[in-house]
Amino acid sequence: MKINDFPEEIRKHIIPCPQGELVYRCLGCGLEISIKKLVYTCPDCGEVLLIYDHDFNRLKNISGKTWQKIFDYRKMLTAPAMKGIYRFHEFIGPVLPLDSIIYLGEGHTPIVEANSYLQGKAGVKFYFKNDGQNPSASFKDRGMASALSYINFLLQNNHVSDVLAICASTGDTSAAAALYASYLNPLVKSAVLLPHKKVTPQQLSQPLGSGAMVFEIPGVFDDCMKIVEALSDQYDVALLNSKNAWRILGQESYSFEISQDLEYDTSNLVVVVPIGNAGNITAVISGFLKFFETGIIENLPKIIGVQSNHANPVYRYYLEPDPQKRRFVPVTVKPSVAQAAMIGNPVSMPRVIHLVDLYNKKAGCKKIFFAEVTEQNIMDWGLLANRNGHIACTHGGETLAGLVKAKSSGIIERGDFAVLDSTAHALKFSGFQDMYFENSFPDEYEIVPDPDLVNSPVYIHPKEIKKVPATGKPLEKEDFKHFINCVSKEIATILKLN
Ligand SMILES: *Cc1c(COP(=O)(O)O)cnc(C)c1O
Ligand SMILES: [Zn+2]
Repeated sequence: MKINDFPEEIRKHIIPCPQGELVYRCLGCGLEISIKKLVYTCPDCGEVLLIYDHDFNRLKNISGKTWQKIFDYRKMLTAPAMKGIYRFHEFIGPVLPLDSIIYLGEGHTPIVEANSYLQGKAGVKFYFKNDGQNPSASFKDRGMASALSYINFLLQNNHVSDVLAICASTGDTSAAAALYASYLNPLVKSAVLLPHKKVTPQQLSQPLGSGAMVFEIPGVFDDCMKIVEALSDQYDVALLNSKNAWRILGQESYSFEISQDLEYDTSNLVVVVPIGNAGNITAVISGFLKFFETGIIENLPKIIGVQSNHANPVYRYYLEPDPQKRRFVPVTVKPSVAQAAMIGNPVSMPRVIHLVDLYNKKAGCKKIFFAEVTEQNIMDWGLLANRNGHIACTHGGETLAGLVKAKSSGIIERGDFAVLDSTAHALKFSGFQDMYFENSFPDEYEIVPDPDLVNSPVYIHPKEIKKVPATGKPLEKEDFKHFINCVSKEIATILKLN
């Protein structure tokens, strides 16, 4: 729709101008730092940062109802910069001019209701929000669109030049970072650090295809993260891990989209997310808070963070009911099919602690919960979901398992319904499905396949066939007829067709 066709009262709000007063704020000592520089941790106390808008209250000059209309009308815009997460520009990156924004097709992923069979099994009404339908096939694209748009803005204003973007990754961060950095080729180059043999072949192929320098490091993600932190402390590089607060801003779009898709009625909503480095749950909490404070939604939804018992430091932290007595203790991870969440020392833990407290206070009651599931639960629920029309990755399976667990612990109330974050595409983790179907999981996963969920291809080669077609060697008339007859008969027998 063209600008002049929008209603008069909305028209002036449709295309945003740069606005807001963003600063990095330290969660440890409160120090504020200008966003003109790339900074990841507090120079005084070393703690992680979040980005705050000093002028956030200006957003309250527009009513919640009007904001809803602005976002709804923006659905009809065709300007590329406004097509993705920046439909919510004022809440995500208000200082960015539209010509800095990079749009590669991220955001606005579908929310798909589970069929009645699957809802019956889970005992809760629920939907998957398929973040695997982002360009690099995970939610990480939301944060990268934000981080690289900001870097693009710095480049355009000569605040930086010849950027080398680096990250440590459990697979998806590097795929997204390399993709978005490659769009800014040749001004931005990227280098990614991956734990050797701990990312899937699909995830390894992604940064290679995007032209990044790929380093494989012995150990697990937490080791890679330490190396990247050392590099970003000592050298002039742009860190693209979720330690980078711009990533968090972009990932808040997940909450904004859910709100909009529900026509801003978030009563009875439960949002379930897997936790790894805890950047995603930080963003989901922060996003709902912003919409709540500006009256765009009237209720803060319940949020459930899920972890595998093989990588559960956040879950363990919140096991202690008394906030005074809670102590964060990193864990040594064990192998997990929720591989992107196999993190024992989440970088965003201080953000989670800060925001969970704030969220529950604003809501007036406890609204954020944590659930722990087994590797077996993750695979069984994920495979069952995908046999019922979904494309859930193992982390999507983890959220469904977490929902079922939350239901049994009484967190889900009558009338509640859930939106589960399927954080990546099933295809990225198909190797775990293979291991399940072939019963070839190493012991430490503690996974035994349920025969009802196992599936494998049937090779058809009836005994009475002498000749079969091959590439470049088709069968001739009678041989071909014979082949077709025998094979179709055999398939019909197996399928018990009559
Ligand atoms: C990164 C990732 C997670 C974990 O998100 P955090 O922000 O690290 O907590 C979960 N699932 C997938 C598919 C991911 O790529
Ligand atoms: Zn500080």
